[in-house]
Amino acid sequence: MDEILRQLPKKAAEKHKENKKFFTKLKRKPPKNLDYVMQELHETEFERTDCLTCANCCKTTGPLFTNIDIERISKFFRMKPQKFIAQFLRVDEDNDYVLQEVPCTFLGDDNRCSIYDVRPKACREFPHTDRKKFQQISNLTLKNVAICPAAFNIVEEMKKRLP
Ligand code: SF4
Ligand code: SF4
Repeated sequence: MDEILRQLPKKAAEKHKENKKFFTKLKRKPPKNLDYVMQELHETEFERTDCLTCANCCKTTGPLFTNIDIERISKFFRMKPQKFIAQFLRVDEDNDYVLQEVPCTFLGDDNRCSIYDVRPKACREFPHTDRKKFQQISNLTLKNVAICPAAFNIVEEMKKRLP
C-alpha cells in the first residue's frame, strides 16, 4: 500500500484532464442507472481494499465536523462541546469546523480510529462513491482520487462502465 500511496498523486494528476472531461459529460447527461452502477463499483472496490492498510484520508485531510458530530463526540468524551472544539478543532476558510492538525488526533498507530463508533459523518461517508447522484460531487471526487486509492480505482472503472 505504501508504494500505491506514494504513486497516487502523480497518477491522479496524469488522469486529471481525462477525469474532468468525463465528469463534465456525466453531469450534462447522467445515465439513469448511475446510482446502481456506483453502488456496485463501490462495493466491489471496498471488498478488495482494506482501509486499515491505508488510512490516507485520516492522515492527509481529515473531515469537517458538523454540530451534530461535535455533540455526539464530545458526549463520548464526557466533555462540553465548547471544550472539545477548543481542544481539537479550528474554523477553516469555509467557516466549517475541521481538525487543528493532520494526521487526525484520533488515528492510532495501527490505523484504527479511536472514536470509530461516533466518528464524524464525513468520515463514515468518505470517499462518497456510493452516494446518490454521484455526478453532483464531481469536483470533490477529482480531488479525492489523489488521496484515496479506492476512489481512484472506482473512477477508472466508471470510465469503462459508462463511456
Ligand atoms: S477511504 Fe480511501 S483513503 Fe481512506 S483509508 Fe480507505 S482507501 Fe484509504
Ligand atoms: S475521526 Fe477517525 S475516521 Fe475520522 S479522520 Fe479521524 S481517525 Fe479517521
